[in-house]
Amino acid sequence: MLSGLDPSGGAGIQADIQAITSLGAHPLPVLTCLTVQDTRNVYGAEAVNADLIRQQLACLTEDTPIHAIKTGALGNAAVVDALVEFLESHPGIPVITDPVIKAAGGGDLADEELVAAMKEKLFPKAEMITPNGVELALLGGSDDLDQAARNLMEAGCESVLATGGHGTGVHIINTLYNHAPEPMTWEVERIGENEYHGTGCTLAAAIAAGRAMGLSPRAAIAQAQNYVHRALLHALTVGKGQRVPDRG
Ligand code: PLP
Repeated sequence: MLSGLDPSGGAGIQADIQAITSLGAHPLPVLTCLTVQDTRNVYGAEAVNADLIRQQLACLTEDTPIHAIKTGALGNAAVVDALVEFLESHPGIPVITDPVIKAAGGGDLADEELVAAMKEKLFPKAEMITPNGVELALLGGSDDLDQAARNLMEAGCESVLATGGHGTGVHIINTLYNHAPEPMTWEVERIGENEYHGTGCTLAAAIAAGRAMGLSPRAAIAQAQNYVHRALLHALTVGKGQRVPDRG
């Protein structure tokens, strides 16, 4: 996966490593940015040099088969370019993209150039993007989330999993838009409201683990949703802000 470092251990690369490992796959962690962050919010971020990431991807693929790729916070537009070059020379790997723009606490994790690069270059190469409601409205250009998802598909996304975790209500509804006539939904009981750090990362990483291990996209979503639900049931209090899913 390509993700950022959250030193509070709630989101980012640590979330990905824990989720992928506990579902039985082997993570190949490529770090895209370092953040200044606690369990409450993100206060700063600096991207890793894109050439280093280019070299890491080239080196890894010479050594080991890559069965799926999960992307999270990407740091800057140059990192997107490095990844897209890699995907162009290695087609066929399922890419699950969590289009990280802001932390749950409101701190920025992407500037406008990065958002544009994700939309124009990365989304058309991804098998699935997994925006939450805020990200979906922003990326799809509509507050009507159904319309926003359809706009993204018209712009070249193969499928959009709209995640409902950041909303309110007794149930979380995750909705998969692909080219089927009707979207497919998964519903799970909500545990507390918007008080977890790294749920989006955990869900997308768990989907990628399922895909790497041969599950279909739908089966991978179902497994990932159950996994996140369990992780939230046992969430840990590690700081003064949001709780951290127990991904062990
Ligand atoms: N990636 C990094 C490095 C982060 O710091 C964060 C949020 O703070 C995220 C991703 C997104 O986290 P979430 O899973 O809560 O959307």
